[in-house]
This record gives sequence, structure tokens and C-alpha cells, in this order.
Amino acid sequence: MGKHQSNVPIKTSLQFTSNSSHNSFLTYHITGTLLSMFRNLKVEILIVAILIFSYLLISCSSTKRFTSDEDVTGKEVYKEEIKLNASAVRVLLDEKPEALYITIQSKVYLYSGESKIAEVNEGNVLECFNKSGKVSLNINRKNFTASYFLLQPATGNTIKYNGKIYRGRLQIIVEGNTVELINFVELENYLRGVIAKEMPLGNGNENYEALKAMAVCARTYTLMKMNKGNIFYDIYSDTRDQVYGGYTAEETISNKAVLETKGLILKYDDKPARIYYHSTCGGVSENAGNVFPQQNHPYLTSVEDGSEPYCRISSRYEWTETYSESQFIDKLYNSGVISSINYEVDDIYVSSRFESGRVNELEIILKGNAGRKEIILYGNEIRSRIRTAKKNRLLWSTLFEVKRSGYDIIISGKGFGHGVGLCQWGAIGQSREGRIYKQILAHYFPGTESGRLYD
Ligand SMILES: [Zn+2]
Repeated sequence: MGKHQSNVPIKTSLQFTSNSSHNSFLTYHITGTLLSMFRNLKVEILIVAILIFSYLLISCSSTKRFTSDEDVTGKEVYKEEIKLNASAVRVLLDEKPEALYITIQSKVYLYSGESKIAEVNEGNVLECFNKSGKVSLNINRKNFTASYFLLQPATGNTIKYNGKIYRGRLQIIVEGNTVELINFVELENYLRGVIAKEMPLGNGNENYEALKAMAVCARTYTLMKMNKGNIFYDIYSDTRDQVYGGYTAEETISNKAVLETKGLILKYDDKPARIYYHSTCGGVSENAGNVFPQQNHPYLTSVEDGSEPYCRISSRYEWTETYSESQFIDKLYNSGVISSINYEVDDIYVSSRFESGRVNELEIILKGNAGRKEIILYGNEIRSRIRTAKKNRLLWSTLFEVKRSGYDIIISGKGFGHGVGLCQWGAIGQSREGRIYKQILAHYFPGTESGRLYD
């Protein structure tokens, strides 16, 4: 999701399954079978058998964490990876066509598949290439080729590379012709690197309840992505999903917000809710179905952001964009609405609005050498068709009025983002007025409640 906004529709419902519950069922089943076998044996034999069985159980269950002191065998790494797959988020950190260069800045262990092949000291560069769909890795004039490589911290819990620090471990793979770097990181640790990037932290505790609300939203969204079953990674680390800055981005207050909401997601009708959020609603949020077709949910409905809008503290609560006529024509041309710039704007007006007041249909009448041309732009697409005058960003919102002033076209509006779901600046406004995160979430997602994933 963007810095304070999102255009990402959520498509699937969450059906999160746990591998660990599967394992405990298996253990119970084996124990029950063995006990029934022993029932008719003498007590002494039974005791000895139970002791042996207990010993076997303890020695088989590898609960010890992999530490830098251990000489880790490939088998242990493999187990660790399975464990991570069950509870870790796989975040795409970087992708480059054909080659990726990783400057190591903290000592790491390098694994090829299941085997530890090198200790890499800081200052070394890993040159990773696509070699017919496998990773070809050069380090210190040595070359290794494998379907994937793993980097594990040699000391502590973090890896520093290319000036950034991440928790968990890193995987290098090739997908198509692209070399990809993926961070395997435990869910709650991942969220720590997200919240500080996605929400303004404020002074002291003023934004704290909003940060907690955001942590619940981000956790719900992430679990939905993890449940999609993608092959290589679950989630992007940029505006395509949620901006993630890893350990480098973490701040005390946002970490605390993640910790205090640990394991909480947003639910409707006892099922995980679909999460949308945006920077600033401008006074009223939008029905999801008006922005994302087929996403009409009772809790994703248009709500007023207070009688005095909570988000009026946002710098994008009100805005004005002024275009010269030729600049406006350029915007339409650059976004593919028209195929020539030889037009003048004859008229422009809003022909219909949604109940919230956001523009549904914007009509633009152009005249040129080839005659008159009528264009209708619809809803949220207007934002990418008529981008901002100076920086060419998506138009702030569709909650606007449009008028002519001489040759200029002036669009003045309220809010920033698509308007669906949680209004981030409204959440901050509520936090500053003393409302708690559950009230904030219930306000923007009416009828939902926060609950544990496994409730
Ligand atoms: Zn708002």
C-alpha cells in the first residue's frame, strides 16, 4: 500500500492452517497406539519402554535454536526452513534482471540448498547471476551454482547488506530471468518494519492508538497474502503491498504497537475482514464497491469521519490543483486518454457523483481540428488520468469540484487516496482525541471486531 494509501484489492478470504497442530495430532496418535500395545505387558517392561520412548521423543524434537556457535549441519538448516515456512512472511526485497549484487556488511553464513558452504565476512560482495534458471553466485573468485542460496546471520538476529538491516534470513533465487532477494521474517517482526513506514509516528504517545489500529490492519492484510499460496514470496516490500523497511525502519513506539496487538486481526462474522486503508478521507469514506468492483462488504461502507472530520489535521485535507489548458491536454495525452495534443478544452464538468460526494463521472468536451470529442472518465480512474499539475502524482482524491478560470482548469478537493476503509489521518485524529484502537477500527469498519487468528 502506498505511503499512507492503498490501491490493492484484497481478493481471497483467509483460511490459515497451522502445521504445528497437524504435528501434535500425529504425536497424540502415535502415543495412543503405543500405550495400547503396552497395556498387557509387565509394569517393569512398561516403565523401561516409556523411558526409551520419552528419550526418543526428546531427541527427535529439535527445539534448540540455531546459533552461530553451533556447527550447523545441512539437516538442521532444512528443519529450520520448514519452521520458517510455517510462520514466516516471505518478503520480496529486491529484484534485478539477470544480476544482483549484495555487499555484505555483517558476518553471515552462506548455505547452498541444505549445506553450509561459506562464512562471509563483512565487506565481501556476492555477485548473483541468472544461469539458465539457477543462481550462479561469485564470491572471492569462487563460484557456486544452486537453485537457491540462503544467508543466515552469523551473530545476532540481523543481517546488514547494502546499507540496510533486516531480521530473519535472506534467500536468493531466480524467477524467470530475474534474480530475487527474499527476506524470510517472522510475522510480528515483519510488522515492526511496516508500521513505522506506513504511519506517521507523531510526538510522544499522541498517535499510539492509531498505530495499534494500523498494526491490526497490516497483520490482517499480511496473513491474507501469506495464505494465497504464491510459490516464491508472499508480499512486496513497496507500495504494491505495504512499505517495509526491515530492522532499519523500526522505532520504539511502533514496535510497542505491534507487540500490544500481537496476534490480533480484524474479523467480521468471525472471519478475517478485507482490509483497505488510505491517507485522508476528506470527511467521508467510500463504499468499497465504488472503487473496487465486487468488493461490496457491509463493513466497507461509506462513513462520516466525525461531525468535525478527524482527518482535518492532514496536510491533504484540502487541496487545489491548477492546470493551464495546454498542461491539462498534456495530462490527458500522457495518460492515454487522447492520442493527439491538438485539442482545446471546450467544457469540463462533473456529471454524476456517488453518495459520498466523490466523482463518479467526469465529462470533458474537447474541440480540435478533427472536431468535437466527448470524454467521460469514471471514479477512481480519474486519479491516474488527470495527475497532479506539478509532480505528476496520482490526483489526490476524487472528492473534488472542477471549474474554469480564464484558460486555466482548477480542481479543488478534499482528501488523499481512494477513500475506502481506514482513514489514516482520521485514525490519528481519533487517537489524539483519546479514542482507543478498537473504537478507531469499529468506526472505519463498522460491525467488525478485533480477535485472535485462532479464536
Ligand atoms: Zn478521514
